[in-house]
Amino acid sequence: MGQAEIYAVGLDVGSTSSKAVVLDGTGAFIADTVVGVGAGTSGPARALSESLSQAGIDISQVSALCATGYGRKTVENATMETSELSCHAKGAARLFPEAHTVIDIGGQDAKVLRLDDRGTLQDFVMNDKCAAGTGRFLDVMARIVELDVSGLAKAAEQATSPAKISSTCTVFAESEVISKLATGVGIADIVAGVHQSVADRVAGLARRLGIKEKVAMTGGVALNSGVVAAMEGLLGTDIMTSSKSQLCGAYGAALFALEQASPERSE
Ligand code: ADP
Repeated sequence: MGQAEIYAVGLDVGSTSSKAVVLDGTGAFIADTVVGVGAGTSGPARALSESLSQAGIDISQVSALCATGYGRKTVENATMETSELSCHAKGAARLFPEAHTVIDIGGQDAKVLRLDDRGTLQDFVMNDKCAAGTGRFLDVMARIVELDVSGLAKAAEQATSPAKISSTCTVFAESEVISKLATGVGIADIVAGVHQSVADRVAGLARRLGIKEKVAMTGGVALNSGVVAAMEGLLGTDIMTSSKSQLCGAYGAALFALEQASPERSE
């Protein structure tokens, strides 16, 4: 089989969203899809079928499919499965070749990865116990202020005096935000305070591992420039992001699938 006929797919079944990436035999992106629902929903199958139709191929033409993420065990058609950490490290090393620290904030957890000069995972810390400091916290707060998560960063731009959200528990923070709204605090200041609260939690996690520059952010929350800016302020460093940040795990999975499909590419 010639290289041009290889199609490698990565499918990242997250808690909140499903992401698929299709690579050709040279490792170039030929399709990618994010569907805003994750494990246990129609999201994984939709992400896969939408990306295959974007690529103009059907499942029988897929040479290898690597499943990753929270719901990776449930993927039919997978030829392999790989842990989220391995896939994130692999994807991040390609998206951000200069990164030594990768901060991934997803819908249900946050992880900080340390990569060596070759992009190999050296160490990590993770919060998967508490919704504060994850995308879930932002989703809950966005609902209260009647915004989509994609509109939070813009809303926070008008902030003049970011609200201090002192509750560290999401449920209490929800009541705190409602009571601030009731006393007339503006949405911009509330949202800026919510961004700061998420950034505080994740910066604490990152400091436990130690920050080695350069720093990159992945996961869906990397699309929120308000959280990225708050993290930059707290960590005192620039943070790289990419329009493909949310696809990082799926990209890493697709790279593993490509190695399975053409073992001579293995690094
Ligand atoms: P998971 O892999 O756990 O499903 P993701 O890495 O896809 O999670 O991140 C999901 C989170 O990303 C959501 O909880 C939400 O807060 C945030 N998010 C998703 N899309 C956007 C967007 N367009 N703009 C800002 N934030 C977003």
